[in-house]
Amino acid sequence: MAIDIGGTKIAGALVHPDGTMTALTRRPTPRGTDAEGVMAAVTEVVADLADSASWPAAVRCGIGSAGPVDTSRGTVSPVNIGAWRDFPVQERIAAELAARGAPIPTVLAGDGVAMTAAEHWLGAARGHRNALCMVVSTGVGGGLVLNNQLHPGPTGNAGHIGHISVAFDGERCACGGRGCVESLASGTAIARRALDQGWTPGADATAAGVAAAAATGDPIALAAFDRAGRALAAAIAATATLVETDIAVIGGGVAAAGDVLFTPIRRHLAAYATLSFVRELRVVPASLGGHAGLIGAAAAATMLLPSEGATA
Ligand SMILES: [Zn+2]
Repeated sequence: MAIDIGGTKIAGALVHPDGTMTALTRRPTPRGTDAEGVMAAVTEVVADLADSASWPAAVRCGIGSAGPVDTSRGTVSPVNIGAWRDFPVQERIAAELAARGAPIPTVLAGDGVAMTAAEHWLGAARGHRNALCMVVSTGVGGGLVLNNQLHPGPTGNAGHIGHISVAFDGERCACGGRGCVESLASGTAIARRALDQGWTPGADATAAGVAAAAATGDPIALAAFDRAGRALAAAIAATATLVETDIAVIGGGVAAAGDVLFTPIRRHLAAYATLSFVRELRVVPASLGGHAGLIGAAAAATMLLPSEGATA
């Protein structure tokens, strides 16, 4: 069972061992309501799943959520769901499942960790024992697979590559740090950089607009993507040097720019990934699309919860 909670939608599905999904359902994330109002949409998603003939066969439940998350306490405080602060979503969903006759184990994962689990199970990181997966969109998130194990860390926040510094005397980041990857390579940062440097946007002043301009050879737009790609390359190389990841998978809206982003990343990588054991490091696009959140929630449940027969 997979439940994916984001700022725009709350989705659910029953995910089978081969990755196929049934009973797909979703609700818009409620706006202008309180914590219980948002939970009501989650309850509706669970009720839809419980109507499926496959419901009694579910053995575990993965919950993916926009962050911040604290998996040690089962709580979430999503930036884009203001009604939920330290909301005990894991306990609440477990109670909904039990009330519908499915008292199965649950696990909570942040969306970056869930995306990593998805790409390792069925996507571009498949078959790689050690991988870094990243989401580059309005923010920059990520997760790690080390020795074939998902590595969420004690509170579910390991792999927070958006907030490691690649410019120690760089600008302040929203997190309070300095020179963070996110402050240089997020879609927001790319658009801001291009505008600051004199780029004249057409109808689209976002990073997608900058990407379109870069694809036609606009030098300011190309420079903005080059700067973002350089920041990502430095972070990817640092990660590989630290823990010997041999692949970096990048998804998210900014990665949809394709070669406009990947070409500068690969070009700059050589300058940062210098030691012999990281020279083969590859950077590739994520391969799972719109359902990566649900696939990731299911994959996180499989990777983090005991297998059947091992549960008490
Ligand atoms: Zn930061």
